[in-house]
Amino acid sequence: MKEIIQDLSAAEIAALVAEYGEQKYRAGQLYRGIMRGKRISDISELSKPFKEKLLERFEDEPVRIREVLTSSDGTEKYLFELADGNIIEGVLMSYKYGRTQCISTQVGCRMGCAFCASGLNGLIRNLTAGEILAQILVVNARFGGTAEKRAVTNVVLMGSGEPLDNYDNVVRFLKNVTAEGGICISARNISLSTCGLVPKMYDLAEEGIPVNLTVSLHASSDEERERIMPVAKAYKIADILKACDHYFDKTGRRYIFEYSLIAGENADKEHAARLVFLLRGRPCHVNLIRLNEVKERHLRGISEKEAYRFLGELEKGGLSATLRRRTGADIGGACGQLRASRLKEE
Ligand code: SAH
Repeated sequence: MKEIIQDLSAAEIAALVAEYGEQKYRAGQLYRGIMRGKRISDISELSKPFKEKLLERFEDEPVRIREVLTSSDGTEKYLFELADGNIIEGVLMSYKYGRTQCISTQVGCRMGCAFCASGLNGLIRNLTAGEILAQILVVNARFGGTAEKRAVTNVVLMGSGEPLDNYDNVVRFLKNVTAEGGICISARNISLSTCGLVPKMYDLAEEGIPVNLTVSLHASSDEERERIMPVAKAYKIADILKACDHYFDKTGRRYIFEYSLIAGENADKEHAARLVFLLRGRPCHVNLIRLNEVKERHLRGISEKEAYRFLGELEKGGLSATLRRRTGADIGGACGQLRASRLKEE
């Protein structure tokens, strides 16, 4: 694979343009073109010889939209193809205030959560910062969005992969996506979801990019959590809570817990009570998710009524909590489901 120009910051693009002996203002043209989701070969302001030189070294289209599925509720599911032929997926949800895009950070995942389809074949490779960014750039362009008038307004790192397991590339991505002069999505409109890699949560607090921190909790005790999330053997819930509090101290951002309700595992009254005991008084919110059942996995979800009952218990206990609206369930909305189904067809 060639290099990926979307990895570069504006300053690095300027250095690149100087290196090729082009005039300074070309840097702005190149950077703006890229931020508009254009291929290098489609940036009309640049000379053909310069573009040819760039194309010897850089991928023209590191992330290509290969397929878009539209759900009955308007949610779109994307299948992106990378330059090496790997595929990743993403989701776009439209709201009154704008559009939220869910992006991937790795091809596959090595965390091995029992309910998740992303890790079915393990980790294939990390995405580069530019491959993470380009997912947004191409979708933003598809809706006629520019850097100044964005069609994609919010971003969640909740596609395939564990973002903090690809730390350096994800932080570079966060710097580039929030940079002024670029697509410039504010950190407060970005959510990063982690299965709880505690040391990296501390590192993230130091980066000066106050994104919303979301942690996949999915259990009210360490024993329960270990049954469904191998990472729980390395990091205890108490340590996760400490890291969250540190993140709050550093950034002032309330943190969020994801809790996917699984029948017989974590969805009974006693679990709700334990969760209340764990989280009461903390600056956090609990996002309940009804399990998207994955064929290859054996876990089962609970009914909507039961989910509301669980939510009621949390609210009664004084927690801030919501049951996430189910979107895109008819198009393989859960992490890795679509990719898994397409891999099987190939
Ligand atoms: N690796 C990160 C990012 C994934 S975010 C993390 O673990 O947080 C996607 C969220 O959906 C996570 O909370 C994940 O645990 C959850 N999830 C994955 N598969 C699911 C499924 N089949 N049903 C419901 N939630 C699921």
